[in-house]
Amino acid sequence: MGATLDLARATPAVAAVNLSGLTRGQLAAALVEAGVVPAPKAKMRAGQIFRWVHFRGVTDFEQMTDVAKETRAALAEAFVLTRPEIVERQVSRDGTRKYLIRVAPGIEVEAVYIPDVGRVGALCVSSQVGCTLNCTFCHTGTQALVRNLTAAEIVAQVQVAKDDLDEWAVDGEDRKLSNIVFMGMGEPLYNLDAVADAIEIISDNEGIAISRRRITVSTSGVVPQLQALGERTQAMLAISLHATNDALRDVLVPLNKKYDIATLIEGIRNYPGISNARRVTFEYVMLKGVNDSPDEARALVQLLKGVPAKINLIPFNPWPGTQYECSDWATIERFAAILNRAGYSSPIRTPRGRDILAACGQLKSESEKVRASVRRRDAAVLASG
Ligand code: SAH
Ligand code: SF4
Repeated sequence: MGATLDLARATPAVAAVNLSGLTRGQLAAALVEAGVVPAPKAKMRAGQIFRWVHFRGVTDFEQMTDVAKETRAALAEAFVLTRPEIVERQVSRDGTRKYLIRVAPGIEVEAVYIPDVGRVGALCVSSQVGCTLNCTFCHTGTQALVRNLTAAEIVAQVQVAKDDLDEWAVDGEDRKLSNIVFMGMGEPLYNLDAVADAIEIISDNEGIAISRRRITVSTSGVVPQLQALGERTQAMLAISLHATNDALRDVLVPLNKKYDIATLIEGIRNYPGISNARRVTFEYVMLKGVNDSPDEARALVQLLKGVPAKINLIPFNPWPGTQYECSDWATIERFAAILNRAGYSSPIRTPRGRDILAACGQLKSESEKVRASVRRRDAAVLASG
């Protein structure tokens, strides 16, 4: 309770807008709306601020030395540039870093930085707290959806990682954080507006500047949103397939009952921008005795005929209470060999960060949906504090 009252003291009567999660257009509009910048100058001023925030990573308006002193003061009066709190930071034996981030009171998400993937390093970000889907092999799936993240909260995960890697104001190729994958908690296509805004911010050339070709969105197969995802984000697509027949996929990825494999493959064929240079990644989790037979490897090859595809075999990452086991290594290699012979190269994804539960599908936070009555009570306490 004491913490709640402290928070009330620290929080202005009306919560200030955090500029660091707005797109350029939203940023310009916010400046005008707050009366800080006249409309004709808003675009230019927004560009300046955007660069300070997203290229230099500043969190204090005072550091924006090319903005007039009075404007800086007016900005500080009307807005904030705060980062969320890192509740916990864990580093795996293999260098993987996992951040538990409190984006709002009681709302915690995980993001994972994985070194040496692609050219340099990837950050796996969450799009929701929990998930509405219940894929049976996924730890996140056991956490009910608390809520969608905002674009600002998605971008904040990248900002936190860049702070930790000490990687602001770095151009070019030798960056430690070069790729973003939406493979953390949640189903990105159930939160497409925020995901699209976040991608717009993260890919902006004058900011964090991670190109859209290095941003991958993974979905369990929300077919009706695929077209919009491609058109709005031009991101690379990854599909959580995991089975080659509907009977099994219905069990592993229950969303399959709504959009079956044939419907999914048809949707993927129409994904905007798909080509041999821009292939779709098919993720396939290796579950012992469930989906790992040579026949299924051959079925997978058949299924993907004519689709510009890469295949990613993911050794199952166990979590407390799961009924599944990871396939034996020899079984995974036999499966991979069949794919190799069909022309798919190096399809096995090395598990990273397993010792800190940071690997695919192991993410889960303690956040639970707070009942509306409890929220109202907390709000009343805050107001009276
Ligand atoms: N909801 C989206 C993105 C997050 S899951 C999706 O389902 O695609 C990211 C990837 O991790 C998915 O391919 C998912 O199927 C896989 N995954 C989930 N649990 C896993 C586990 N325990 N071991 C290995 N991979 C897992
Ligand atoms: Fe949700 Fe993806 Fe996990 Fe399925 S695999 S429960 S869609 S996070």
